[in-house]
Amino acid sequence: MMHGYGKIAEIDLSSGKIDVREPDERLAYDFIGGRGWAAHLIFKHLDEIVHGTHPSNVLVVATGPLAATGFLGGCKTTFAAISPQTDLYGDSSVGGYFGYMMRKAGFDALIIRGRASEPSYLLVEDGRIEVVEAPELRKLNSKEVDEKLRGEYGRNCSIASIGIAGEKMVNYASINVDWGLKERRHSQAGRTGMGAVMGSKNLKAIVAKGSGEVEVADPERLREVNKRLIREVKSSNMYENWMKYGTNMTLEWANTVEALPTLNFQKTTFEYADEISGQAVYNSQLYVSACANCIIPCGHVVRSDEEVATVDYENLGMLGSNLGLKSLSEVAKANYLCDYYGLDTISTGSVIAFMMECFQRGLLTKDDVGFELSWGDAETVYQLIKLIAERRGFGTLMALGVKALARYVKKGSEKFAMHVKGLEISAYDHRAAPAMALSYATCDIGAHHNRSWAITYDVEAGRTSYGRDKAEKVIYLQHMRPLFDMLGVCRLYWVELGIDPNIYAEAYSAVVGKEFILEDLLACSERVWNVTRAMAVLRKGISVKDDMLPARDFEDPIPEGSTKGIKLDHENFINLLKTYYQLRGWDESGKPTKEKLISLRLEDVAEKLYG
Ligand code: SF4
Repeated sequence: MMHGYGKIAEIDLSSGKIDVREPDERLAYDFIGGRGWAAHLIFKHLDEIVHGTHPSNVLVVATGPLAATGFLGGCKTTFAAISPQTDLYGDSSVGGYFGYMMRKAGFDALIIRGRASEPSYLLVEDGRIEVVEAPELRKLNSKEVDEKLRGEYGRNCSIASIGIAGEKMVNYASINVDWGLKERRHSQAGRTGMGAVMGSKNLKAIVAKGSGEVEVADPERLREVNKRLIREVKSSNMYENWMKYGTNMTLEWANTVEALPTLNFQKTTFEYADEISGQAVYNSQLYVSACANCIIPCGHVVRSDEEVATVDYENLGMLGSNLGLKSLSEVAKANYLCDYYGLDTISTGSVIAFMMECFQRGLLTKDDVGFELSWGDAETVYQLIKLIAERRGFGTLMALGVKALARYVKKGSEKFAMHVKGLEISAYDHRAAPAMALSYATCDIGAHHNRSWAITYDVEAGRTSYGRDKAEKVIYLQHMRPLFDMLGVCRLYWVELGIDPNIYAEAYSAVVGKEFILEDLLACSERVWNVTRAMAVLRKGISVKDDMLPARDFEDPIPEGSTKGIKLDHENFINLLKTYYQLRGWDESGKPTKEKLISLRLEDVAEKLYG
């Protein structure tokens, strides 16, 4: 018997068939859980999947073995599928209580295929799964779906829901978890359009309700490791700042180190940064909320008109400085509306910023799109969010994302369409940060900081250096950070408070009753990275030409400040990319070699890639 793992359910929404099984040992110990399981399971179905919003797509909802064990931060769930935005493997991790409830209901993963004939939701409750038809949820937004279902299932459940943007299959539609419960952190699986995948399946929500206990091999050892973690957390010199500001303090930092995306990544500092800073959030916050099993809550909630919004650094950057919005109340309202309709705040901010720059440069006018648009125009931002979510007017085109939008506008606008492989770049200007640039270029879902937040290393090691150390650092981070999403645990304890990562290997060993050291787990994470890369090569022929950044990064120097004049150097960047491939054991085109795959026990992947 395997300790620490729950069941997997395969649900075919077209036929209504549900199969439940135990995970096998290879899945458990080679891929750990969460994102690792998702990558492995989607790889197995890769040939069947027509496109992101086709019923053949496979949506994997997977939490990890540390979730709901009582271990601190054990709350994370990954939503993964072929992304409608990139047509590559996509995933997004979410906190709140969803993974906690799913594990307590006895399930570690749901594999969802097909399409329901009517708007429906899944009920995952204490060992059973039911597909419930709910036509009354049609056209409801995420918050309303949550309220309706919570009325039925009570407070003691967690609800993952989509809004109108998901229903309309906006390429970057998000999934909301835990709306409206003050004590619970309202969170989103925002990136890569997982809300659109749910929408394409006519799946408005998943309700998870569990009252069981997760079986742990050595509870005494886990308690001891947890106690040590609590001691480390409380003695961290970052503890007080984190408790006060959470991720929002990154805004002041990014502005100071001149990496804050401003006016569609034209500038790196924002004149009104103080108005939307971590301090500004702290000064006006109503309360702070937490995910399950968390003692360092970071859900900072502020007022947004009649409603409230949970703000994070990425939202402040992409909907604030990047759009020129000058006040916290304006950013909070844009944030709230994105959540309400179910849109990713990063992609939405990038798409609107791109439009604003097109207006600035005279590439678009009111005659083209039906409205005026200028930097800092909050009222139009609110209207655009609605237009995008409902796919109305010019919003229909904006709903496709910045890459498609630039193809429509043309006139050289591709240069400042800030995306990699179709996924909009998150909130760090990287012209004076080669390691961060490499992180974005090589991220397996398109440009996203959560795989490798290497900009702190650039600040420490040199803003214009392209040494081998930078490639090594990025690879380390690309294995370390996603490992948390495999374990089902929040990475912020390690990232922000500097917790010893070895503690996570000890906790995993205690849960599953087998001995693992951190290096073993990092090897699993490397295995997963190679699976997602192999999928990109197989599906889209992804190679060195695609691991590339927007032309702005190489052509437009930073216009002011101490980093004035710096831009990415193309030749140095290509050499850094080559070093990265070499260190990874990939060939010059960026394809994992057969030997590398076999050394990672990925014979099935090697077979598919090389025959
Ligand atoms: S630190 Fe924040 S994101 Fe992480 S578990 Fe706690 S509340 Fe959730």
